Amino acid sequence: MGAIQIPFSKPVVLGTEGEWVKEAFANSRVAGDGPFSARCSELLEDAIGASRVLLTTSCTHALEMAALLLDIKPGDKVLVPSFTFVSTVNAFVLRGAQPVFVDSRPDTLNMDEELVKELIDEQTRVVVPVHYGGVACEMDAILSYGNDRGVRVVEDNAHGLFGAYRGRPLGSLGCMATQSFHETKNFSCGEGGALVINDPGLVSRAEIIREKGTDRSRFFRGEVDKYRWVDLGSSFLLADVLAALLLPQLERREQITQRRMTIWQSYERSLAAWAADMGATLPVIPPHCEHPAHVFYLLMPDQLTRDRFIAHMRAQGILTVFHYLPLNMSPMGKRLGGRRGMCPVAEDISGRIVRMPLYYNMGDDELAKVIECATQFEA
Ligand SMILES: *Cc1c(COP(=O)(O)O)cnc(C)c1O
Repeated sequence: MGAIQIPFSKPVVLGTEGEWVKEAFANSRVAGDGPFSARCSELLEDAIGASRVLLTTSCTHALEMAALLLDIKPGDKVLVPSFTFVSTVNAFVLRGAQPVFVDSRPDTLNMDEELVKELIDEQTRVVVPVHYGGVACEMDAILSYGNDRGVRVVEDNAHGLFGAYRGRPLGSLGCMATQSFHETKNFSCGEGGALVINDPGLVSRAEIIREKGTDRSRFFRGEVDKYRWVDLGSSFLLADVLAALLLPQLERREQITQRRMTIWQSYERSLAAWAADMGATLPVIPPHCEHPAHVFYLLMPDQLTRDRFIAHMRAQGILTVFHYLPLNMSPMGKRLGGRRGMCPVAEDISGRIVRMPLYYNMGDDELAKVIECATQFEA
């Protein structure tokens, strides 16, 4: 097979990265909570309308912080989509929680809110909706079922930064939300993340948990005269030198999201007729959801066609990829009570989904080549 000419994803390159890293070193502040971190946090607090945003080493760690903050204990149940990344679930399983895998809606592929209503019981402590591709889950329903039963909602918003649901920013809807700045996400600093805190009652303990269980954040603000070990914690801070890479991307969020959206819409326009001929479908975006163009996918008529399509594109040097394998069928998921047949929609779409190359620095020539090769494929 030939070399890959068009990858599936590439981290954002603005061209000024070196200057920002130099400035971080010129500040002599490259560890956590320096000036760049403060500016990223402020920008995100304003954009999302959050009480506090704490930068973390990853979305995985932000999820672990959320589980610690909610005092998740063995025997607690957490409702999670089956069609998600492992971190959504692991963070709670690490605290001894029992995951309950929720199947997807066939249209948006998001956690089915009607199943959330059925599955919430006395042991349920948290629901973790994932806005797949940055298209919102049915949050009004999920939040109201949670409220009725005293269950907290934590949004895993790794895909959805700067998206919205009924005019409200994604990440502002749960008591907390988590963001990812991994290189595969819309905004990235290699590895990174954030915990978005919307319940002001959780802020001070979140600062402590992120600072190894100490009140060091209060010490730096001059609120206490020495810092002490006061609670559980770990080291979840993003290095300021990485925040220096992230800030210019966040400042240019409209430009970055707009370019992704242009690519997304080109796929939608150019692939619609060809896909319909083949019995494939394109993403469904409900009118009340604004998405940040994180994923463009096709649902092929069956797995064999999907796998043949991936091979066809690969032969032309273009990488298209499938996505999550349902967690209820994973080896670890099975040890936690998952089994085949539990999430029929997720099990079906997982075999048929394929994602198209989509990244900020993708050129018009690359986009044209992907579309041309795709539409040459015959089922
Ligand atoms: C990428 C991703 C994560 C993990 O993000 P990291 O920053 O790599 O820890 C978690 N959940 C979802 C839905 C993701 O897509």
